[in-house]
Amino acid sequence: MDFELTTEQRLFRDTLRAFVDEQIRPVAREWEAAGRYPDEIVATMRRMGLFGLTVPEEYGGMAADMVSLALVFEEISRGWMGVAGILGSHSLSCWMIARYGTDEQKRAHLPALASGERRTGIALTEPGAGSDLQGIQTTARSEGDGYVLNGRKTWITNARHADPLPVLARTDPAAVPVHAGMSVLLVDAAAPGFEVVRDLPKLGYHGPETCEVVLDEVRVPASALLGGTEGRGLQQVLAALETGRVNVAARAVGVAQEAYDQALRYSGEREAFGQKISGFQAVQLKLADMAMKLQAARLLVYWAASRADSGQRSDMESGMAKVYASEVAMECAATAMQIHGGYGYSSEFTVERLYRDAPLMVIGEGTNDILRTVIARSLTSGRSAIG
Ligand SMILES: Cc1cc2nc3c(=O)[nH]c(=O)nc-3n(C[C@H](O)[C@H](O)[C@H](O)COP(=O)(O)OP(=O)(O)OC[C@H]3O[C@@H](n4cnc5c(N)ncnc54)[C@H](O)[C@@H]3O)c2cc1C
Repeated sequence: MDFELTTEQRLFRDTLRAFVDEQIRPVAREWEAAGRYPDEIVATMRRMGLFGLTVPEEYGGMAADMVSLALVFEEISRGWMGVAGILGSHSLSCWMIARYGTDEQKRAHLPALASGERRTGIALTEPGAGSDLQGIQTTARSEGDGYVLNGRKTWITNARHADPLPVLARTDPAAVPVHAGMSVLLVDAAAPGFEVVRDLPKLGYHGPETCEVVLDEVRVPASALLGGTEGRGLQQVLAALETGRVNVAARAVGVAQEAYDQALRYSGEREAFGQKISGFQAVQLKLADMAMKLQAARLLVYWAASRADSGQRSDMESGMAKVYASEVAMECAATAMQIHGGYGYSSEFTVERLYRDAPLMVIGEGTNDILRTVIARSLTSGRSAIG
C-alpha cells in the first residue's frame, strides 16, 4: 500500500500549482466578482494541453490517469473552482466520445477538442428532469439520412463554447424500458434551430456560463449518433458521469483545502483578547476537524481515482468520494468563514467565494441523495463490499 503520488504525478501537481499561483489567484476575486470570462487562463490551459486530459494520445491528447485528472481539478479549484468547470464537462464528453464514438467521430472531433481549438460540454438536464434522466422529453426523430431534434435543455455549462454539444435525446419515445430509446447526438453549434437562449444567474461557479438551450427542428446527420447505434445513450452518459464524479470530488477537495489554508493563515494573524485567535482552543478544534476531514476526503478521491485506473468498476467508490468530499467542502467553507468573523462575510475575502462555490459539488454529477442510493444499491446487491 502506497499513499504517495508517483514522481510524475508530483511533478505534474507542482506545475499545476505554479500555474494556479501565477495566473489564477491574482485575478480570481476581481474576475469572479465582475462575471468576466477567463479567456487568458483558458489560453494557458490550452498551451498546457489540459483540454486533452481524457483524450487518447493518438488523437493528440494527454490520456491522463484518473489520479492526475483529480490533481488538475483539485489544484485549479484551490485558486478558482469556476475555472475547473471550463474543463469539467469538456473532459467528460471527450472521454465519452473516445470511449464510445465511432472511428469517424473520434477522428472528426477529438484532435480539435484535445487542443482546445474546439470545446464541448454535456446536455442532459431539462426543466422537468435532472436526477430522473429517463424523464427527459427532448426527441430526435429519424428523418431521411439523419435526425431532427426538438426540446429544451437547462443548466448546461459551457454551452456557448461547445461545438459539438452532446445532447441526450429520445430516439424512440415508445421504447420499453425507456432507456432503450435514448441516444446521444453530437450537435453542431452552427446547426439551424440550435440556440443558447439564456445564461442562468448563479449563486457561485462564476467564470463558465451555465445556460438554457433550445433545439427547434435541429437537423443532424446520422453520423452524429454517438457510437452509431441507437439506444445506448443513457448507458454512455452514466459511464461518463462516473469519471465526472472524480472531477467534482477533486474540485471539492480543492475548495476545502483553500478554506482550511485561509482559516489557518487568518487565525495566525488575527488577534483578540491580547492573543492570536489560533491560541484559543475553540479555534484549534475547528482547524483540527477541518484538516482531518479534508485529508480523509482527499484519500477517498485518490482511492476512487486509482480504482478507476485499475480498470475495475468504480461507481460506488467515485460516489463515496463525491458525496463525502462535497460535504467536507461545505463544512470547511462554513467553518473558515466563522473563523474569519465578520471579515468572512466580506466579498473582499476569499472564504466568501468558497462558501458560494461549495454547494455546487453537492448537486453536480448526481446529487448526493442520488449517489447515496447508488452506494447503497451497490452494497445491498453484493456487487461491492466494505472491509
Ligand atoms: C451550476 C450548475 C451547472 C450544471 N451543469 C450541468 C451541465 O453542464 N449539464 C447538465 O446536463 N446538467 C447540469 N446541471 C444540472 C444538474 O446535473 C442537476 O441540477 C442535477 O442533476 C439535479 O437535477 P435537478 O436540478 O433537476 O433536481 P431534481 O432531480 O429535481 O432533484 C431535486 C431534489 O430531489 C432529490 N431527489 C430526486 N430524486 C430523488 C430520489 N430518487 N431519491 C432521493 N432524492 C431524490 C434530489 O437529491 C434533490 O435534492 C448543472 C446544475 C447546476 C446547478
